Amino acid sequence: MITFDHVSKVYPGDIQALDDMNLHIEQGEFVFVLGRSGAGKSTFLKMILREEIPTDGVVRVAGHDIAQLKKKEVPYFRRQMGVVFQDFRLIPNMTAYDNVAFAMRVTNVPEKTIRNRVPYVLGLVGLEHKLNAYPNELSGGEQQRVALARALVHTPQLIIADEPTGNIDPELSYEIMELLTAINSVGITVVVVTHEHELVHRFKKRVITIDKGHVVSDIPAGAEYTGGAEE
Ligand code: ADP
Repeated sequence: MITFDHVSKVYPGDIQALDDMNLHIEQGEFVFVLGRSGAGKSTFLKMILREEIPTDGVVRVAGHDIAQLKKKEVPYFRRQMGVVFQDFRLIPNMTAYDNVAFAMRVTNVPEKTIRNRVPYVLGLVGLEHKLNAYPNELSGGEQQRVALARALVHTPQLIIADEPTGNIDPELSYEIMELLTAINSVGITVVVVTHEHELVHRFKKRVITIDKGHVVSDIPAGAEYTGGAEE
């Protein structure tokens, strides 16, 4: 699903964000990516989303060399993935229903399909009773669930979560991670960038730690994660 083959990224000003990064994530895997601030996590995610391209090396996502994608192919490429951000990025003057529906309307999905699909995906995240609530009427955990429903609306192969629990209480963070695990159990690849060792510890998934732009440890799922040595 995702391969980084000797990937380097140098930003203007000679800033080396990724430095010979190598990794492979199979379809259907659940992976935590850990790393301190400045390690290169955001650059890593931006490559997967094709918001940046490598200076050197090759990034392959869902069968595409991202540097070879034509500009007009990029929106279709991105639609194969759902993204969840730390700050939720919901539209404040839209209900939960409309936030999710909006993601479908912009791609010209028929209104009839939207009317079926939106309550369904909001139901998957346990919010069937909050369809008409506005973001400011929802808790942080609930807002992140709406964002997750929105990420699922196009039936993605891949969910990318960038610090998804960064703005949520610890007990609700656990629920969000459980939801991501449930999403993964139906075969969707999940990549979660986080710095929350405690959560990572509980879930016993694969943990890739990056530092100074490359992989410094890669612990397989099921292993006892002792945590934090590299950070
Ligand atoms: P992280 O997400 O782990 O904090 P980043 O990928 O954001 O790491 O950043 C890695 C390095 O690249 C940092 O030194 C950061 O300052 C630098 N960097 C990130 N984005 C840019 C950019 N657009 N232009 C210049 N330098 C950048």
